Amino acid sequence: MIETDVLIIGAGPVGLFAVFECGMLKMRTHVVDALDMVGGQCAALYPEKPIYDIPAHPSLTGEELIKNLQAQIAPFHPTFHLGQQVEHLTHLPNGGFEVTTSKGTQFRVKAIIIAAGAGAFGPKRPPLANLEDYEGSGVFYYVTQKERFRGKRLVIAGGGDSAVDWAIALSDIAASVQVVHRRAQFRASPETTARLHELANAGRIELVVPYQLASLEGDAGTLTGVGVETLDGDRRLLAADALLAFFGLSSNLGPLTQWGVEGPKGTFAIDPATGETNVPGIFACGDVASYPHKLKLILTGFAEAAQSAHKAYAYVFPGKALHFEHSTTSGVPSAGSEVILNVA
Ligand SMILES: Cc1cc2nc3c(=O)[nH]c(=O)nc-3n(C[C@H](O)[C@H](O)[C@H](O)COP(=O)(O)OP(=O)(O)OC[C@H]3O[C@@H](n4cnc5c(N)ncnc54)[C@H](O)[C@@H]3O)c2cc1C
Repeated sequence: MIETDVLIIGAGPVGLFAVFECGMLKMRTHVVDALDMVGGQCAALYPEKPIYDIPAHPSLTGEELIKNLQAQIAPFHPTFHLGQQVEHLTHLPNGGFEVTTSKGTQFRVKAIIIAAGAGAFGPKRPPLANLEDYEGSGVFYYVTQKERFRGKRLVIAGGGDSAVDWAIALSDIAASVQVVHRRAQFRASPETTARLHELANAGRIELVVPYQLASLEGDAGTLTGVGVETLDGDRRLLAADALLAFFGLSSNLGPLTQWGVEGPKGTFAIDPATGETNVPGIFACGDVASYPHKLKLILTGFAEAAQSAHKAYAYVFPGKALHFEHSTTSGVPSAGSEVILNVA
């Protein structure tokens, strides 16, 4: 059983910043995420895309934002429990909660901050035989490191932004890029779709339309080809080292919806002044938090994380007055100061 002050659910940008805000108020945190990496949507969906609306950063990529947040929270030594979803919640008789994850990790905490975004998300998988044999070796749903695909023969499936963006971005370094889509029209933005067609006309990308995925060919987890077919049954075998399937994500709040926290579908309603939900001691911030006129932006989530941490203080240190201080006055508590370091 891990005892700590605040359990943060979700290691997306907002969950990471919640670690910082809690740390500044000398509250210890542990963080759980269903993914096996930190960074939420920024890391999983658009690590290399520039973000333009983070205050004081005219432009930085999803990956850079997450790296910066990790550096910012480093003084607080947060402990991450990755690759596991939170499941059971028990209210303790004298306040506080016990939480158990899908891997059996147990926490006893005084407050909970839910920064779960759209829920524990996973890719929509194509219905192909032997798919699991190739996942992670020849079939991918995210690009976390572009370099991994240098010199490879790539088949990219899908017709939306991710498929088109990555086809364009990887055409620079891949041996070949073939884009499989069941229609001739793509759903990406007009500018990127135009760029895709330019590259196709220049022979740098082949558009395999209207085809859909039919089979995976290879041996012992090494992909060698992707079978595709039209609705009329015309088949082709595309030589490939990797299939990048971008059919969107399905996300699911899962067991969190059984915790008695209320809100409109897929969100938890909060009082924006405090971040608190209808369950005392449970807070929500970031994309998962809702209230009238909510803007689902990273900067909004950062402010909600600050509100949540300030109200959570009352649960962590009952009866102790919280005197508001700017960081320029308080400084950042560092290792060896009053902050108690977390241990896994
Ligand atoms: C392509 C794209 C471009 C974008 N561009 C911008 C932009 O320019 N500016 C901007 O402000 N925003 C942008 N956004 C939106 C931005 O990414 C989100 O607002 C932001 O990621 C929300 O952060 P979050 O921490 O609340 O949630 P998320 O980033 O979604 O992270 C939530 C994390 O919680 C985890 N989780 C969920 N449920 C559980 C559970 N039960 N147990 C354990 N872990 C769980 C998930 O696995 C996930 O890692 C963009 C989004 C996309 C998809």
